[in-house]
Amino acid sequence: MKTAAIYARYSCENQTEQSIEGQLRVCQEYAASLGILIVETYIDRAMSGTNDNRAEFQQMLKDSSKKQFQFVIVYKLDRFARNKVESVINKKTLQDNGVSLLSAMERITDTPEGHMMETILEGFNQYFSEELAQKVKRGMRETRLKGLYQGGGVPYGYKVEGRKVVIDESAAEIVRYAFQEYSKGAFVLEIIDTLHKKGLLYKGKPFPRNLLYHVLRNEKYTGSYKCRDEVVDNIYPQIIPVELFQKVGARLEKNRYGKRSFEATYLLKFKAKCGYCGMPMYSETGTASNGETNRYYKCGGKKKYHNGCTKSQVRKEYLEEIVVNAIVDELNRPGAIEFITKKLLEEQDENIKNNSAVNALVKEKTKIDKQLENIANAIQNGIVSKTTAKRLQDLEEQQEKLEREILIEQSRQAVPLTRAQIKEFYSDALEMEPRMLIEYLVKEVILYDDKIQIIFKSPISTVPDEDRGFLLSVKYCKPKKVISSRSSTKRKIMVEIRVE
Ligand SMILES: [Zn+2]
Repeated sequence: MKTAAIYARYSCENQTEQSIEGQLRVCQEYAASLGILIVETYIDRAMSGTNDNRAEFQQMLKDSSKKQFQFVIVYKLDRFARNKVESVINKKTLQDNGVSLLSAMERITDTPEGHMMETILEGFNQYFSEELAQKVKRGMRETRLKGLYQGGGVPYGYKVEGRKVVIDESAAEIVRYAFQEYSKGAFVLEIIDTLHKKGLLYKGKPFPRNLLYHVLRNEKYTGSYKCRDEVVDNIYPQIIPVELFQKVGARLEKNRYGKRSFEATYLLKFKAKCGYCGMPMYSETGTASNGETNRYYKCGGKKKYHNGCTKSQVRKEYLEEIVVNAIVDELNRPGAIEFITKKLLEEQDENIKNNSAVNALVKEKTKIDKQLENIANAIQNGIVSKTTAKRLQDLEEQQEKLEREILIEQSRQAVPLTRAQIKEFYSDALEMEPRMLIEYLVKEVILYDDKIQIIFKSPISTVPDEDRGFLLSVKYCKPKKVISSRSSTKRKIMVEIRVE
């Protein structure tokens, strides 16, 4: 049996967003349609702005290594990450743990073109969420001005009375205690332990660590928080003084520093291979005599299996830079982006053509509409029995369910992208975040001491160069920066770019 976890996220407004319950329902239906069993659900509620930490999301990423689920299902891809870079990094983490991401609302196929489509959809999600932010700002202003609760979950320490948020005194005491202790240097686990010893529990159990971290980062306790760049200060009564909140925030930030950064993500993990012994290249971190951290790709045969391979290690930044430059060069080749665009449009057409699900559902709904009409006529003509009433109710339920399914199917097809949009996306990606293209365009990188072969995936593979065929280019690459003398990458290296 295939298993999955659902991840749902809900930002600070609810009128414009699908509710958590709605997201879960759609994800569950989607899982059921694929015969996937849901084993875990992660929910981040009422997050604000762009600086949220998404504690449950982090937990989900962590749990993905435990082999309990093979898929993560999200309502839409924009639940998964708020920008392209973050998305690629997070998906890489899942992929490294053997977990695939599924979107209940967007139709994604597991082909290179499908993955390209996914990247583009993400790009658009980012754009749309910025556009939405503008709309939300206007629309929500009024409710906020009245200081009314806007729906969704309230943070621990508050409760809702009528349409107002009020302090839940006994819980607020714990919030104050956690802030004070943490600001004095206690660790979260110590705070949980002390609360436990005092018999203070959360739903009968010791406080979950995630919850406490969440509490310590929640600006709402200061009585004023930012929601999509707008300050809201009339909804949550103050529990924590601003100075205390800032002090705690600074300490949280300090403790987090250096743990996991973008730089430490090895984009070529599982893609780089030793040209001499064929083993994968592993990541290796070393500290130089001046205390600087150096990151390398090192042959697995040498590092782990001691097979006598003599391939020297390669500086991470250097290798990734070469690969990124190669991608940039290839995509800048005349006609390359046009070719990819053409392939993507073909993929999109195929999807739309093949998706007969909507048609089938519409047909079924027409049938039910007709039956409902018949019953309505019968009732008008005075023919009413217990069974008619029951039948009417059943049909109405079915009708509603079908309407929802049709909507889901229709939105899954998404709005067809135009040639111009796809081209624009690639040009932007090349300029702003070429690193993310490694994930989608590079199949394999084979390393020798004097040569690097970069093998592209298929979307470019059918663009053989007229003169050179599938060997797209060979060039000599020199690192831009001077690299430490012990590194083997100081000398010039030949870079060969191929496709399958
Ligand atoms: Zn080797």
